[in-house]
Amino acid sequence: MKDLAVVGAGPAGMAAAVAASRAGLSVVLIDSGARLGGQYYRHPPEGFRARRPGALHHGFARFTRLADALGEHDGVELRLLHRVWAVVAEREGDGRVAVHCLAGARDERRETVLARRLVIATGAHDRPLPFPGWDLPGVFTAGGAQALLKGDLVVAGRRVVVAGTGPFLLPVAAGLAGAGAHVAGVFEANGRFGLAPALITHLGKLAEGAGYGLRLARHRVPYLGGHAVVAAHGRDELTHVTVAELDRDWVPGRLRTIACDALAVGYGFVPQIELATQLGCATGTDRDGGPVVTVDEGMRTTVPGVYAAGEPTGVGGAGLAEAEGWIAGRTAAADLGRPVPPAPGLARKRARLAAFGRALQSAYPVRDGWKGWLRDDTLICRCEEVPYARIKEARELGAVDARSMKLLARPGMGWCQGRVCGYAVACLAGEAPAPPRRPIAQPVRLGDLAGDPGGEDPR
Ligand SMILES: Cc1cc2nc3c(=O)[nH]c(=O)nc-3n(C[C@H](O)[C@H](O)[C@H](O)COP(=O)(O)OP(=O)(O)OC[C@H]3O[C@@H](n4cnc5c(N)ncnc54)[C@H](O)[C@@H]3O)c2cc1C
Repeated sequence: MKDLAVVGAGPAGMAAAVAASRAGLSVVLIDSGARLGGQYYRHPPEGFRARRPGALHHGFARFTRLADALGEHDGVELRLLHRVWAVVAEREGDGRVAVHCLAGARDERRETVLARRLVIATGAHDRPLPFPGWDLPGVFTAGGAQALLKGDLVVAGRRVVVAGTGPFLLPVAAGLAGAGAHVAGVFEANGRFGLAPALITHLGKLAEGAGYGLRLARHRVPYLGGHAVVAAHGRDELTHVTVAELDRDWVPGRLRTIACDALAVGYGFVPQIELATQLGCATGTDRDGGPVVTVDEGMRTTVPGVYAAGEPTGVGGAGLAEAEGWIAGRTAAADLGRPVPPAPGLARKRARLAAFGRALQSAYPVRDGWKGWLRDDTLICRCEEVPYARIKEARELGAVDARSMKLLARPGMGWCQGRVCGYAVACLAGEAPAPPRRPIAQPVRLGDLAGDPGGEDPR
């Protein structure tokens, strides 16, 4: 049994593993991906010929330092290509945690990892909004287009439109333009300079933003505020999009059409907190109304022995995630009786970056007007092919929350279990998105659930 299991090998999980192993804990670092780094430091597999490993990243040196530090510590066991589908904490005794995984790229086998403590560093996923045509081939989430580029060196299209809200659109557009795509425009639904006041006190972020701005200018990419893609068109695949000028509530005004073969569209991120809610950790609400795991100043959740770091505690970028990871790893070590010298600088850094994260969410809200972009035949839930008309029908029948909507019209019942449509369905039902209650965090075969003991490999 390990002292600490860390789920998620992004900036938060890597930092937590390094901090805990430096303090003398035996650590297992688990991730469903094939490589360390998570979303921000996603990079191509060995053997891919990138111009240089960090060419598509801002601050890749931080990743190499973390990866080198992990390599230096025998105390950290890596379990990549391990999808964690459930975690169970013992209520009695020393409070050990059983982390249930499916291991391997194909022909997955069951494994259970036992640990005395657990850090949940599972990051976030894209937050899409539905609009007519969003299910056409050629329409990507902004994170998806970025992951394709960073992880596979594949450019989403030749002529690309980038749209949505938030500063994340900038690295996506800059990356695509730098990789040879013609980026026809970046359409920010909120104002372009919403974050400007917060940037004055975060000079590093200001420099990062200016860097993206310069790269877009070099490639002559227009960046327009108060505009959104309200429809995507094409018979079998995307051929053009309708861009609308928006008012403050995102009600469309003047329309125009832009030809493109790819659209990267994103409206922020949803923290992945299923493992925390499985364990019964308390949740709170982030500035954007989304659920996040409640933690104290040491990143302890309300369940003893369980910590959370990075996006699950609130979306704020890679720097904040890493700072929280350091704190979580150190707290876990201290709670297990290891001597850990105080590091007040880390708490200050976390507070500063978390304030920036909140400012970011305030500057780039999702306004209600997007609901007016929908047509009766617009698919809201793509897995179960539920059109907007069925959602309206369910509402008329009395569905006033996402759960009753699900029972009446089936949105969120399919493969993704509401990860893609959940935010939109909650908004259409007229409630704030609720914390996910999924006893199974990842798709699992029935045989694995049935618990064939031959498939189990407890360590
Ligand atoms: C698709 C996508 C692309 C992004 N690209 C960028 C970018 O280019 N630039 C930027 O500034 N920000 C980007 N972000 C935002 C990014 O999430 C944060 O800035 C930063 O990576 C957060 O770090 P983290 O450690 O909290 O989470 P992440 O970096 O997301 O790491 C979480 C890790 O947990 C793993 N994981 C999750 N659930 C499980 C499970 N059940 N079992 C096993 N492993 C699991 C994931 O595979 C992932 O490696 C992106 C976000 C997304 C969703």
